[in-house]
Amino acid sequence: MRIAVVGTGYVGLVAGACFAETGNQVICVDKDKAKVRLLERGGIPIFEPGLEEIVRRNRHEKRLTFTTSLPDAVKKSDVVFIAVGTPTGEDGSADLKYVLAAADEIAGALNGYKVIVDKSTVPAGTAELVRKTMARRAKHPFAVVSNPEFLKQGAAVEDFLKPDRVVIGTDDARAAELMQELYRPFTRTGAPIMVMDTASAELCKYAANAMLATRISFMNEFAAVCEAFGGDIDKVRQAIASDKRIGAAFLFPGCGYGGSCFPKDVKAVIQFSAERKYKFRILNAVEQVNESQKRLLLNRVDKLLGKNLKGKTIAVWGLAFKPRTDDMREAPAVPIIKGLLERGAKVRAFDPEAHQSAKAIFGRKITYARNAYDALKGAEALLVVTEWNEFREPDFKKIKKLLKRPLVIDGRNIYEPKQMREQGFTYSSIGRP
Ligand code: NAD
Repeated sequence: MRIAVVGTGYVGLVAGACFAETGNQVICVDKDKAKVRLLERGGIPIFEPGLEEIVRRNRHEKRLTFTTSLPDAVKKSDVVFIAVGTPTGEDGSADLKYVLAAADEIAGALNGYKVIVDKSTVPAGTAELVRKTMARRAKHPFAVVSNPEFLKQGAAVEDFLKPDRVVIGTDDARAAELMQELYRPFTRTGAPIMVMDTASAELCKYAANAMLATRISFMNEFAAVCEAFGGDIDKVRQAIASDKRIGAAFLFPGCGYGGSCFPKDVKAVIQFSAERKYKFRILNAVEQVNESQKRLLLNRVDKLLGKNLKGKTIAVWGLAFKPRTDDMREAPAVPIIKGLLERGAKVRAFDPEAHQSAKAIFGRKITYARNAYDALKGAEALLVVTEWNEFREPDFKKIKKLLKRPLVIDGRNIYEPKQMREQGFTYSSIGRP
């Protein structure tokens, strides 16, 4: 199939590369000229495990190309994916300006029947809005399909190649058939392709993210209750995770969820439900809990080191919103570091992939350490903010030697409290004695 993907970000680039990997001819479009230039030269603008290899291979085979010209890409394609951003608008809603601008431009470039697929996360009713927007300019027939993306950053390629399910929202039989054909190579192990109406398809993605965010905030609240009673959230977590009705995923308490999806999608559900006069009480609480959770490590610092950190250095391990990504959108590290700077601290931070993203936020206000240990030099405390694998089994003797005082505040519960105590650390984690 000949495919155009509009928007070459975390979703668009991964989708484009994976469709090329199954033999399709793919043109990725982005209005960001620097991004397209980099991709044309063989560079990759984001860090995502496995992505570089499949982009390189499919570029080499000439199945994957890049352009800034949307009309050109649309004219050469049968299926056009919209994978542009849907950031939070002022009122918390998903801002559709990029989706509708892309739809308008696609309509103007039609040169025959095409299937337009909305892959961006968008509220129910957007497929209809896209159809209406396009109908104003389109001189050829087209179908609009909703195809929400469930990949997670850090494992995006793997998720795309082996999805748990594929959701296709459309009432157009021809488009449904074409979409099923396109996804068949990814679902050979039996993952279902679910065809449904567009509103249900659009809501699926929000329901998934809202449920996962709810589990995280629920566990964060339970961690606070464990602390109040001297219980251990890890033991509670393991006990409930073994219950088949509950399962083990997304039960880890921590210093808050972040990223480009959970915060934005939870806000969007609250907003679009309110628009239809429904107050989504649970999600309001989920969001509130997450906001306070992001302040938890700062509260611990205040308690253990006082509120005036002038002349003091604090080491931070982890900047990205989660491991295996360079993405810092809504990362808990941002308010934590801002809070440390406001208290007068000097921050020495290390992240295996996110220094470039951090520089765009903090510039020279913080020091970017060469490695995890370099971040500790002369620091009064170590704050663990992102649970990168390489932080899990460090040389504790070395940590103790490099820190000015043996204080570790762990926002991801990656160390054993007993072991830390035995090694002479003052150790504070979430929901554990
Ligand atoms: P992103 O910000 O990384 O990428 C979006 C890209 O679209 C940018 O490069 C931007 O320059 C480009 N763009 C915007 N308007 C354009 C236009 N008119 N023509 C060409 N290019 C245009 O965003 P993302 O993280 O890939 O997310 C895209 C969508 O997918 C969002 O709706 C998001 O909610 C959803 N989503 C994201 C993830 C994720 O993990 N990041 C997962 C599932 C779904």
